[in-house]
Amino acid sequence: MLWKKGKKELPRDYQKERLAMVEEQLRRRGISDSRVLEAMGKVPRHLFVLDDYRDSAYEDRPLPIGEGQTISQPYMVAIMTQSLELKGRERVLEIGTGSGYQTAILAELAEKILTIERIPTLTERAKKVLGDLGYPNISFRSGDGSRGWPEEGPFDGIMVTAGSPDVPPTLKSQLAEGGRLVIPTGPRFTQTLYRLTRRGNHFAEEDITGCVFVPLVGDYGWEEK
Ligand code: SAM
Repeated sequence: MLWKKGKKELPRDYQKERLAMVEEQLRRRGISDSRVLEAMGKVPRHLFVLDDYRDSAYEDRPLPIGEGQTISQPYMVAIMTQSLELKGRERVLEIGTGSGYQTAILAELAEKILTIERIPTLTERAKKVLGDLGYPNISFRSGDGSRGWPEEGPFDGIMVTAGSPDVPPTLKSQLAEGGRLVIPTGPRFTQTLYRLTRRGNHFAEEDITGCVFVPLVGDYGWEEK
C-alpha cells in the first residue's frame, strides 16, 4: 500500500502503525501482560482484514470482514487474551474464528489452538492467511461452536468471540480444572465480557468490561434471524 507525503508516494509502514497501536491503544489503557503486548506487536493485523480496509487495520475500532461479521477492536482482542492468562503450554478452544486474527494471537501464546467458525467461507479465508503465516499449532472446524468441541476437550482456556444470551453449559463442561472461559453475554446488541474460572463444579465469575459483539448463532446461542 502507498500513502502520499507531499508529492512522493511512500510505502505504508504497517510495523510502525502496529507498534503505535500497542503503545497508545493497549499499554496506555492498562494492558500489562508483556506476552500479549509482544504478540500484538508482531502479528500483521493488516493481512487479516479485507483489502479495502488494509490501511485502517491498526485503527482503534472493529472492521468488517465480510458475511456481516467483524474483526474485533485491538483493545478487545488484547483484554480478552490477557484474561486467559496464558503461559505457553495451554490447549485453547476459540469459538468464532472470523478473520483468524485473534486465532493468530492465541497461537503465539499457547501450545495448541482449536478454532470453530460457523461460516465456511470465513474458515477457508482464515485457514489460508494463517497457513501462509506458517502457524503449525491450529486446528480448524466449520460448524456450531456453541456446542464446543467435546472430543478434543477439556481445554485450559476457552474464548468466545461472539455475544451469547447466556454461558453455554456445553462450554462450561469442556473447561479443565482451573481453566478460564472468556465470553460476552447479555442482550443481542450489548453485552458484558465475563471470565469464568473452574474450581471443581464451581465457576468463579468476574465481570471484565462492557462490549458489543455480533451474535453467537447456534444451539446454545441465538436463533438465526
Ligand atoms: N475473533 C475474530 C477475529 O479476530 O476476526 C472475530 C470474530 S467475530 C466478532 C465473531 C465470529 O463468530 C463471526 O465470524 C461469526 O460468524 C462467528 N460465530 C457466530 N456464531 C458462531 C457459532 N455458533 N459457532 C462458531 N462461530 C460463530
